[in-house]
Amino acid sequence: MKVIRVREGKERSLLRRHPWLFSGSIASGKADPGETVRVEAHDGRFLAWAAYSPSSTIRVRAWSFDADERIDAAFFARRIERAVALRRRLAVDSDAVRLVHGEADGLPGLIVDRYGDTLSAQFLAAGTERWKNAIADALLAATGCRRLYERSDASVRELEGLPRVAGWLRRPDGDAGVTVVPVREHGWRLDVDVAHGHKTGTYLDQRDNRLRFAECVRRFGCARVLNAYCYTGGFSVAAFAGGAEEVTSLDSSGPALALADQHVRRNAPQGFDAARHRTVDADANATLRQLIEDGRRFDAIVLDPPKFAANAAHAERAARAYKDINRLAFKLLEPGGLLFTFSCSGGIDAALFHKIVAGAGIDAGVDGALLQRLEAAPDHPTTVTFPEGEYLKGLAILRQ
Ligand code: SAH
Repeated sequence: MKVIRVREGKERSLLRRHPWLFSGSIASGKADPGETVRVEAHDGRFLAWAAYSPSSTIRVRAWSFDADERIDAAFFARRIERAVALRRRLAVDSDAVRLVHGEADGLPGLIVDRYGDTLSAQFLAAGTERWKNAIADALLAATGCRRLYERSDASVRELEGLPRVAGWLRRPDGDAGVTVVPVREHGWRLDVDVAHGHKTGTYLDQRDNRLRFAECVRRFGCARVLNAYCYTGGFSVAAFAGGAEEVTSLDSSGPALALADQHVRRNAPQGFDAARHRTVDADANATLRQLIEDGRRFDAIVLDPPKFAANAAHAERAARAYKDINRLAFKLLEPGGLLFTFSCSGGIDAALFHKIVAGAGIDAGVDGALLQRLEAAPDHPTTVTFPEGEYLKGLAILRQ
C-alpha cells in the first residue's frame, strides 16, 4: 500500500473529515491514477484511505476515515446501498432521482441519476474511473435497474487527465438501447435523453422548485409567464399546471426548446391551444432587453441560467452577469409579479446572491418581498463536512 504523507499543519481538513487534499499539502508519496493510498500525517498517524489523482490539483480524495475499512468492491456496494437507502427514506415524488451525489454520499467523483428503469452516471475522478466496474455492478444490484448509461463527457475529466467518454456500460441482451426515457415528476410526464441531454440527462435539482413555482403561479394568479433558460421546459409545464394563460420559453438550444414544446403539449388538458406556448431560440440577455423595448410585461418570470462562475475566481464577473439579467427581469415584471431567480455557481454563495439580486432591484427601481429561499431538492444533499457541495441557490420574490 502506497503512503501519502501530509505536510505538517495541513492535516486539519482531513481530520475534520473533509474529503479533499490539494497537491500543495503533500510532503511525499506518489501513486498511479485512482490507486488507493494510505494518507498519513507528518508523524505517521493514519488520516484516511483515499484515491490518488496524479494530474489534478485535488490530488487525493478520501474514501474512508476509518483505519479498519478496506477499499474493495464490497466497500462500494455498501456506500451505494447507503445512498440508495437515503433516497428511499426521502420518498421523492418522482421516478427520476439523484441516487449518488458525489462527496455528500461518501463517493467523491461519482454522480448517478435514476431515470425510470435507466441509470445515468458520471465518473468524474481517477478513483471512480478505476473502480468503474465494481461501481456499475453495485448500482445494478442496489436498484434492480439493468440499464446503465455512462456520461463521463464533462470537461472536469480533463483536469483528472481522463478522456471524455459516453455510452452504455450495462444493458441486458436484446435491449434496443433507446436513450430517451419517460419519467414522471409530480403529476407530469417528461422525457429525458440520457445520451444527449445536459449532464446525466436533465436537472433533477430543480424538481421541488418547479412544483413550488406551479403553486405560486396558482396562488398569485399569474397569467403571462416567461421561463428564461428553460432547457426542456420543466418550469413551463409547471406554469401551465398552475393555471398560466400563456408561457414564453426562452433558451439558446433548439433541441431543448423542441422538447420543451412537446412536454407542454403532452401535459396539457385536451383541447389546449398550442399557441399559448411560445418558444424563443435566442440569447436570454439580448431577448430580455428586446422584450423591455417592445413594452412586454409578465406576471411571473423564471431565471435559471447556466453556471456563470466556474469557481470563486470568476465570481466578480459572474456577479455582474447575474445582476444584469435580474435587473432586466425586475423591469419586465408587473407590480405584484413573481420572480423565481437562481444561481448554480458554487463560487457565489447564498448571501452574495441575495446581495446581487437586491442590487438588481435597486438599479431597476423596484422593491420586492422575499417569499422564500430556494435550494436543490433533498436528493442532492450537502453534508456537514463538505459545505462546498452547496451550489444551487434561489430566491422567490414578489415585486411590490
Ligand atoms: N430551468 C431548467 C434548467 C436550465 S439549465 C430546468 O428546470 O430544467 C440552463 C439552460 O440555459 C440550458 O438549457 C442552456 O441551453 C441555456 N443557456 C445557456 N446560455 C444561454 C444563453 N446565453 N441564452 C439563453 N439560454 C442559454
